[in-house]
Amino acid sequence: MEDKMWRGLGVSAGRAAGPTWYLEEYQVDAAPETFRDSTVEEEMARLHQAVTRTEQILTSLEEQVKAEQGEELARIFVAHKLLLTDPSFIGEAQTRLQRGELSAEQALQEVAGEAVQMLRSLEDPYFQERAVDVQDVLVQLLKNLQNDPEERADLFPNTGNYVVLADELTPAQTIALPKERVLGFIVRQGGKTSHAAILARTYGIPALVGVVKGWEDLLVQKWVELDGEEGWIRSAAEGHIRFADNGLKEEDLAPQSGSLQGMILAANIGSPGDLPLVQKFKAEGIGLYRTEFLFMGEKLPSEEEQVEAYRQVVAACAPQLTVIRTLDIGGDKRAPALQLPQEKNPFLGVRALRLTLRRPELFRQQLRAIWRAAASGPTAVMFPMIATIEELDQAKENLRVAREEVLQAGHPVGELQIGMMIEIPSAAWLADKFAAKVDFFSIGTNDLTQYMLAVDRENTELAELYQPYHPAVLGMIARVSQAALQRGIWTGVCGEAGGDALLAPFFSAVGIQELSMAPGSIAKVRSTLAKLELSPEERETLVESVLACAGTAEVIEVLQSFLTLYTLS
Ligand code: PEP
Ligand code: MG
Repeated sequence: MEDKMWRGLGVSAGRAAGPTWYLEEYQVDAAPETFRDSTVEEEMARLHQAVTRTEQILTSLEEQVKAEQGEELARIFVAHKLLLTDPSFIGEAQTRLQRGELSAEQALQEVAGEAVQMLRSLEDPYFQERAVDVQDVLVQLLKNLQNDPEERADLFPNTGNYVVLADELTPAQTIALPKERVLGFIVRQGGKTSHAAILARTYGIPALVGVVKGWEDLLVQKWVELDGEEGWIRSAAEGHIRFADNGLKEEDLAPQSGSLQGMILAANIGSPGDLPLVQKFKAEGIGLYRTEFLFMGEKLPSEEEQVEAYRQVVAACAPQLTVIRTLDIGGDKRAPALQLPQEKNPFLGVRALRLTLRRPELFRQQLRAIWRAAASGPTAVMFPMIATIEELDQAKENLRVAREEVLQAGHPVGELQIGMMIEIPSAAWLADKFAAKVDFFSIGTNDLTQYMLAVDRENTELAELYQPYHPAVLGMIARVSQAALQRGIWTGVCGEAGGDALLAPFFSAVGIQELSMAPGSIAKVRSTLAKLELSPEERETLVESVLACAGTAEVIEVLQSFLTLYTLS
């Protein structure tokens, strides 16, 4: 049989194979055309009841997720509950019901349908993804209206392991599935920032989204293999079951002292809820704690809430280091509670440090919380999106004042290493100047690539051009690391490239001392580095060969042949 192949956007790494199971979309029974025996009051009462019931279900989902995965993910359901009180949704449905022509089902479908269409028509992928939220809530409401509490995901077979196919995967459905038996997710709609993608990464299940071409054909496949990193699916022989273990053995999970040429492998996290994964993959500390997720709910966290979250992470990782990055809101990350104005070019706008320097109260509150958490173990603070020396000076001045404030309030403070992200080309170019003012650098390859190559990191159309392997990007990284070494400070890489096993030998060879990545990537990078034994001359050759390349494809070829040549079998 000739192998068939489909392509999609890989959003959660790992390779898996197994039988397929299609999670059919919820089909709403034909709603009555017009009122027959029901009055407006009766329909209003039905709607009211469905809203109340939906709210209860969402609250229990929120609690379940909070207990299992932590507060950040649970916020998805808080956002869904907010939709239930949104005047433009339920309020509008009620207004249409009052006209006396529609059933509750029809009114909801009309309003939600318009909202979904409107959200999908917006260019911003964030809003396009939010269409799934509206649909998720709509489905819950319709099910409750029709007394059909059955969750389609509950129909997942009682035994066996499956690759789940779905036109669209809502957070509620993802949560309802028995994750330990899901081999992979293949979703027709959606992008990298969809909740389903985030959840898949959190659970370490390989996933692809945006599989539009050939979808119908894919649906009839009984058995498939998929790669959530390379973004492909192919038909597979029946009987072949594979969990996404990447072929790793137990020893790949354990840190191996000495064999990684001094490289520390740390984890990137977004909340204390990720700590179990940090432990599972034996990360050596946290190289990037993205604190912005705490600020993306409907209200801002208090200083005490921040202290609690940061302290939990610091204490769990001690004696290893936790690098807490200050708020990076803006660009693709939104915080409704901050009520920020719309910008024409958000990625070039008031983002990250540019925002916090304009909101000193917000900034200093976070810095105070970080000083306080630092009393629980080794901690570093890191500033994102620095372009100028003046910004760094101002950030450090705020840090100094925040320390005074904590002491005045009578709280103990800890020690802090002070670091900055290198993710804007101007800062990378002036690395030697910045190095005199900080304890470490952490290179954000996601943004450094986007700003060096002028390619929006979210734009799937330009994915081919978005290349951290570009020799200009790698050359800049080598330059930064060199400047840091000369000044005696350490450099890490915390963008997605930090978790790329193909690049790890190059990073090691240019003197990078820490790679920080999604916990699920650590084992592969560890096993790759452990197999390499490089002399100083070989390291130099590797760097020279990469930097001599004129293009991305050439770089990839050099890296691949290098790995083949020097990997100890
Ligand atoms: C980066 O830009 O590489 C980075 C790690 O930061 P973020 O992805 O949060 O922008
Ligand atoms: Mg960044």
